[in-house]
Amino acid sequence: MSPRTVVSVITPVYNETGLIDSFYERLARSLDGAGVGDWELIFVDDGSEDSSPEELQAIVCKDERVKCVHLSRNFGQEQAVAAGIDQAVGQAVVLIDVDLQDPPEIIPKMIAKWREGYQVVYGTRSSRRGENWFKLLSAKFFYRLIDRITDIEMPLDSGMFRLLDRQVIQALQQMPERHRFLRGMTSWVGFRQTGVLYDRDERRIGSTKYPFRKMFLLSLDAITSFSYFPLQLMLYASLFLILVSMGLVPVILILRLGRGPDFFGGQATSILLILLLSAFQLFFLFIIGQYVGRIFDEVRQRPLYLIREHDHAETGKTLPASPEDETEDRR
Ligand code: UDP
Ligand code: MG
Repeated sequence: MSPRTVVSVITPVYNETGLIDSFYERLARSLDGAGVGDWELIFVDDGSEDSSPEELQAIVCKDERVKCVHLSRNFGQEQAVAAGIDQAVGQAVVLIDVDLQDPPEIIPKMIAKWREGYQVVYGTRSSRRGENWFKLLSAKFFYRLIDRITDIEMPLDSGMFRLLDRQVIQALQQMPERHRFLRGMTSWVGFRQTGVLYDRDERRIGSTKYPFRKMFLLSLDAITSFSYFPLQLMLYASLFLILVSMGLVPVILILRLGRGPDFFGGQATSILLILLLSAFQLFFLFIIGQYVGRIFDEVRQRPLYLIREHDHAETGKTLPASPEDETEDRR
């Protein structure tokens, strides 16, 4: 690690055996070829259970520009990236996945934009290959929904792949929130931002670590972190119900006057209405619960992640996390 490090590349890794070597080689070739200056690569092993840790260690041993921190368990991609950001020393920090869906060859283009003065350079997917229709459709829906209901301007179709200037990193480090949605956070901080277009490749080995359940949870984090819209829905729903009930009063009166007092009665209607209204209420309780649960998580002030050990280039041995790391782990 050099104090002149210009670019730090951060790559979270969770059970990615077979991908790590080719990723490292393509990245090193791209950065060396573009002459970007001194760079470092920080792998964050997010509690992998396969042989990824050994593969990572082998690279750390052969290239001193590569560092690796192992988290104590699987914390999730957002936390793994936060851990990497805390270790990075570069003037610009690039976030990129290990599965080569985001081509490392784009990084020099991002660096060129950064040198022009942009402080956030995000990769925007002009196309996505090899993903099923459900993922494509849900991603498209998700980006547009977030754009609609939040106040911040998030670029559409941009994932984690991006370059952040040191000033932006410092701003992000002042945001220790537990439920993180980094794409939103980097938009929220402002600064000069621009995008570069790229084609997203398919994943060559393994499968996505974001099944529907995790995508859903991430969307909840994204929405609750940046919007009160779900809470405001309650107002709209109550106004709607008030209008419906007010509209029903004259209808019922007229029907009863015309067709007798028993009209519009009956248990079935009441049961249906009770069920429907209970469902409404439970839905909104769920929404309130989402916000309350997040308040609880913030109040507890647990660390975002815990480091188990660092891979060390000289000895090739893994070193336990030093006491300083504990203070580095943001609380
Ligand atoms: N990842 C991680 N922890 C997790 C899930 C994923 O560090 O709990 C890493 C993963 O190894 C990869 C990146 O995050 O480098 C993106 O994951 P993936 O490719 O599965 O997401 P997708 O591209 O399908 O959205
Ligand atoms: Mg991927």
